[in-house]
Amino acid sequence: MNELDLKEEALMVYLWEDFSEWFSRNDMPLVKCKKLIKKARYRYNRPNIRVGAGKGISYAWGNEFGIELPRTTRSKTYVLHEAAHSIVGGLQGHNSIWLRVYIDLLCTYMGLSKRGLFKSARESNLQVAPLYKCPRPRSYGIMKKK
Ligand SMILES: [Zn+2]
Repeated sequence: MNELDLKEEALMVYLWEDFSEWFSRNDMPLVKCKKLIKKARYRYNRPNIRVGAGKGISYAWGNEFGIELPRTTRSKTYVLHEAAHSIVGGLQGHNSIWLRVYIDLLCTYMGLSKRGLFKSARESNLQVAPLYKCPRPRSYGIMKKK
């Protein structure tokens, strides 16, 4: 995938988030963000990673090595978005594998409906990878169906 495709993929995801009623900004202290990242990563058998305060940057980012969260991005949705990047690895970008993990985290930690998220993602022309291609959460198989 070239750089332009990667940017387009990211923009499609940002649009989907922006138009979703569950998207939130700036509503959690950094300590809480760090705790949620630790939990989300543990769910996927990943060790805790460095989470920075995003000093001097205006956007959040995350990969398998760390996450930066400037003040305006300290919310559950941003945290779970970046946690998903840290779980699947930065090279995956906002692809269908990343999206599946992100949706799983949104359902698990925000109580959102999996069906609803799959539906709205589809309506925004976003693809969700099949489970066998994705990292699996530890409790898979004993989770309640939504
Ligand atoms: Zn992202």
